[in-house]
Amino acid sequence: MSAITDIMTCKRILVQSHERTSPQFTAVLYAVVSKFNVDGLIPLIFNKCNLCGMYVENVHLMCINPECSMNLNMEVGSDELESILNIRLSLTDCTGTLENCILHHQAATKILSEINNFQNMNMDQKTELKWKYLFTNCKIKLVVTKTYQEEKPTILVVDIVNKGPILQFISCIPIY
Ligand SMILES: [Zn+2]
Repeated sequence: MSAITDIMTCKRILVQSHERTSPQFTAVLYAVVSKFNVDGLIPLIFNKCNLCGMYVENVHLMCINPECSMNLNMEVGSDELESILNIRLSLTDCTGTLENCILHHQAATKILSEINNFQNMNMDQKTELKWKYLFTNCKIKLVVTKTYQEEKPTILVVDIVNKGPILQFISCIPIY
């Protein structure tokens, strides 16, 4: 994580993600979180059976793989169930926007404290969490994996720190 030191703008990241050089690069981005839907209706947590790896429906919490010996009810927070967060956010600076960035499990755990905690949050608490980051200035560390087709690159947010007023770090921001 401390190896991520190259400060880039959104535009530079997008341009570099289409260059045919190394398949992956990292960047530090100073940007505003322009979309962070943690309080929407889309499920943000997927559960997986730890024995066979199959996705487990959130409602029933039962592994339906007939070949799996775990064919019984599971409990949230137990060893047989792996919870995976699927939280997307958009990041905007004066050069553009990076859409659909994936919040890495580790970064998600950091800002949501514990996942089990997040699962138990009510809508008001989730909204409060959203506004802690939405439209605030953040220092974000990214890992960008390129794709050479028409597809968009995969942008993984590995760290995000709320930095408060933009004037505090404006001198760090490159023009391009
Ligand atoms: Zn299973």
